[in-house]
Amino acid sequence: MIPFNKPHITGKEVHHIYGAVATGHISGNGSYTKKCQKYFEERWGFKKALLTTSCTDALEMSALLLNIKPGDEVILPSYTFVSTALAFVREGAVLRFVDSSADHPGIDEVKVEELISDKTKAIVVVHYAGVACDMDKIMALSDKYNIAVVEDAAQAIDSFYKGKPLGSIGHLGCFSFHETKNIQCGEGGLLSINDKRFIKRAEIIWEKGTNRAEFFRGEVNKYGWVDTGSSFLPGEVTAAFLWAQLEEVDKIQKRRIDIWNRYHAGLTDWCKENGVGQPFVPDYATVNGHMYYLICPDIEFRTKMIKILQDNNIKAVFHYLSLHSSPYYQSKHDGRKLPQSDKYSNCLIRLPLFHDLPHQNKIISTIKNII
Ligand SMILES: *Cc1c(COP(=O)(O)O)cnc(C)c1O
Repeated sequence: MIPFNKPHITGKEVHHIYGAVATGHISGNGSYTKKCQKYFEERWGFKKALLTTSCTDALEMSALLLNIKPGDEVILPSYTFVSTALAFVREGAVLRFVDSSADHPGIDEVKVEELISDKTKAIVVVHYAGVACDMDKIMALSDKYNIAVVEDAAQAIDSFYKGKPLGSIGHLGCFSFHETKNIQCGEGGLLSINDKRFIKRAEIIWEKGTNRAEFFRGEVNKYGWVDTGSSFLPGEVTAAFLWAQLEEVDKIQKRRIDIWNRYHAGLTDWCKENGVGQPFVPDYATVNGHMYYLICPDIEFRTKMIKILQDNNIKAVFHYLSLHSSPYYQSKHDGRKLPQSDKYSNCLIRLPLFHDLPHQNKIISTIKNII
């Protein structure tokens, strides 16, 4: 069976974990954490990078940093992972869901402004499949109405918008290093902070509401409880694992982008002939090889496709179910129909894509034989 995903191991992870253990400091914010954070800041231009135990945590930190209170409104796409919404709902936010674009599963930027009210506290965008949203449009709204922007860049490491790294454009950015992502450490994440005003408080929220980070830098002579927060930081074993992945990020990215390109070229004719959509990548965006998906004409087509691939030992999967019609949020949703989001819920199929993917030609030819 060709699985949908197989986490890539570079081979240096255990070496670095050994290194972390040998330092005697295996709780959080040690030398490997600092090495990783420095790398993120220098390479992708984040003003401050804080490792977290997941992207969900980074999103939760964002909600705390933005002081989301019961009744505040947050604008976000419906076609996304639960965590994008949950982090804000936990603080009492009312969600205002935006439909996906007709061209791609990302947020329809044109439909954001009509949802802005005097209760709007944040716009959260998701760079689906690592392909950028139109950030100029989003940041213009942010400036006009003075609303913070959070980039859910969980899938978007080393991807760009008009040359700018994703996760470096909004006030805050959230990355995932879950084993299904390009760079992974089992469970892990990162909060990127691009507005300097948030840095000091982010460090406090990160370390259980204490000013411990300042204390260890010698900036204050005792530390204590000064704010809200939680234990958002990972241990050094996790950071050491992640460091091994960062050392090979260019190799990993190249390999994934090659696989993406091979799918794209190999399936173009078949897709055109059969009314199947391929990923749309706007001129302002790059491909980071996170995901290769197709848009089937309808759900029956997709069900059949998944079944035929399964019968040929190839695991292809669908993706999100629209959050506005989820069992948890449906009754709280304002009732607007979001047909594009539902289209992607019903018609999008993801093909296997991972570093050591075998038999890609067989996958492509099996798809071509479906019709
Ligand atoms: C993977 C993912 C998350 C959650 O990441 P975790 O690290 O598992 O918490 C959130 N948002 C999006 C868009 C994702 O793809």
